[in-house]
Amino acid sequence: MGLIDTVKEALASDSAARPRPDDGSEGAYWCDDCDVRIRDVDLAGEPTCPDCGEEMRFERASGRSCAC
Ligand SMILES: [Zn+2]
Repeated sequence: MGLIDTVKEALASDSAARPRPDDGSEGAYWCDDCDVRIRDVDLAGEPTCPDCGEEMRFERASGRSCAC
């Protein structure tokens, strides 16, 4: 409340100052073995790890986009 809300509003109203671009990303793909992370918007084609070739695990982004 208070200061935090004020900061959030200031950031939301000035798109150039936002810490993260709103590029439509809903999460990222992870390879647990290699600790490799690829954002869904950066992925072209199959979600496979570039290091080991295993299928990667999708993890939704959370926290910052909460609307509550
Ligand atoms: Zn891997």
